[in-house]
Amino acid sequence: MAPDIKNILILGGGTAGWACAAVLAQRSAEHGVSLTVVDAADIPTIGVGEATIPTIYDLLNHVGMTDTEVVKAAQATFKYGIQFEGWSRRGETYMHGFGTTGTPRGEDDFFTAWLGGGAYFSSRTLDAFTPAVAAARKGRFARVAERPAGAAQHLYYPLCELSYALHFDAALLARELRANALRNGVVHRSSKIVAVETGERGIAALRTGDGELIEADFFIDCSGLTGVLSRAALGGMFEDWRAYLPCDRAIAVQTARSTAPNPYTRSVAHRAGWRWEIQLQSRTGNGCVYSSDHMSDDEATDLLMSEVAGEAINQPRRIDFRTGRLAEPWEANCVALGLAAGFLEPLESTSIHLISKYALLLEQMLFDNAGKPDDRGRFNAMWRAETEEIRDFLSAHYVVNQRDEPFWTERRDAKRPPSLDRKLQAFAQTGWFDLPDHALFGHDSWFQVLIGQGFALDYPQFAIPRAEAPGLLQFLQNVARAVDVETSAIPRSHQQVIHSLVEGG
Ligand SMILES: Cc1cc2nc3c(=O)[nH]c(=O)nc-3n(C[C@H](O)[C@H](O)[C@H](O)COP(=O)(O)OP(=O)(O)OC[C@H]3O[C@@H](n4cnc5c(N)ncnc54)[C@H](O)[C@@H]3O)c2cc1C
Repeated sequence: MAPDIKNILILGGGTAGWACAAVLAQRSAEHGVSLTVVDAADIPTIGVGEATIPTIYDLLNHVGMTDTEVVKAAQATFKYGIQFEGWSRRGETYMHGFGTTGTPRGEDDFFTAWLGGGAYFSSRTLDAFTPAVAAARKGRFARVAERPAGAAQHLYYPLCELSYALHFDAALLARELRANALRNGVVHRSSKIVAVETGERGIAALRTGDGELIEADFFIDCSGLTGVLSRAALGGMFEDWRAYLPCDRAIAVQTARSTAPNPYTRSVAHRAGWRWEIQLQSRTGNGCVYSSDHMSDDEATDLLMSEVAGEAINQPRRIDFRTGRLAEPWEANCVALGLAAGFLEPLESTSIHLISKYALLLEQMLFDNAGKPDDRGRFNAMWRAETEEIRDFLSAHYVVNQRDEPFWTERRDAKRPPSLDRKLQAFAQTGWFDLPDHALFGHDSWFQVLIGQGFALDYPQFAIPRAEAPGLLQFLQNVARAVDVETSAIPRSHQQVIHSLVEGG
């Protein structure tokens, strides 16, 4: 532990604040460091943020929570991926499923094989070859299977390639993380911070509404979109990415539901953005994400309320946001996490991933590295590289589309991040592009999305000779059949699994 850090103050009691507190509390006592979370009862948390990606398990494992506990305590359901409806064009659907797509064919990776046969068949999604997608569509749920001992390398076991994440009630999850942190010695204070005192080291102290001064050696800004410490007090530079990620508002509403929950998130495109549907055990989280340049708040609310199923159980609520990030979330003695550090888009559920990944990195740097001088630089560089890759992936969903409304046609012609442009150009020319090691979304994800969005690949260019086509088509059929047969044989429905976990079975 850096010797001069004895008190850490986390400002904010939303998902970011409590996740970070729970992570750091695992090691703080042994290092003689006190941790305090300060939040304001009259500044609500954002309250959305209910879909995750498989890295949610890194956070749960680290703080010693199981998904069974989350299922019991936070209305959680499992998530195999995201179903995109109408993104390519109205009426077309594809899914971005977690885990891998297909299996290699000899020396060729699966996608190269698929592309070689692409000119000979008409299906333009990778859905049939992705086990998580097939299981999700059937409403079945299974944990990842073990590969049988001694199984030959070339044999394909689709259920070994599954991967999944969770949907949960954000407030209930924050409550669990909070209980976890408090059990490990974190102190909680409910006080509104009205002024921030800065000094040589960065932040010196926070003044509460009651006039009290709270000092600490190190601060973590989890104060949400305002960024009370990192942006307002330290003047952190926010890079605006609205040119690439055009939506800036959401209307959120919860509805009651009595049918079995889907093991996937729905993302349904509309004329000026998209709407989400996240099915928890007994209610559904819904939201309409839109560009305020293209749709009014009333139109967005009407659209959402006309499309949701079930009775609304709260009032529709508007949330304004600006896509972008802090270039240097770690500045002086203050690190921004969560919405304070930036917000890309809820499209691929990446925010909670970024919170947990950078809370874990901070823990490692503070407690294992003993505060090496280059930690700040490395932390910021990793953050920049990772958020840029995520931005490219999210932006690709908008850029590659065939819809005809102004919002969508503008996205096709809009300025792109140069790094995305390079990827798309290489993809068009070679059917491939390289991704850095730190990319959160690998080739399986990228190809599912680009193909699903209807990327205009010149399939004949990549086709294998006609004489070789029957063998390749047979291989592809076998893979699709294996995926179908194995996922059909999953013994329990998603609903049955949830029910048995809740009941303790
Ligand atoms: C429309 C939308 C949809 C989203 N969907 C997803 C999703 O599906 N998956 C996902 O991973 N993420 C999603 N996110 C992001 C996710 O909601 C957030 O990353 C997550 O909730 C963390 O929020 P936070 O803790 O940073 O901020 P908040 O929840 O806003 O918490 C801020 C905290 O700071 C405190 N605070 C603020 N100012 C002060 C002050 N002056 N004094 C004292 N306390 C103060 C508040 O009291 C509060 O406790 C979504 C975001 C939006 C906007």
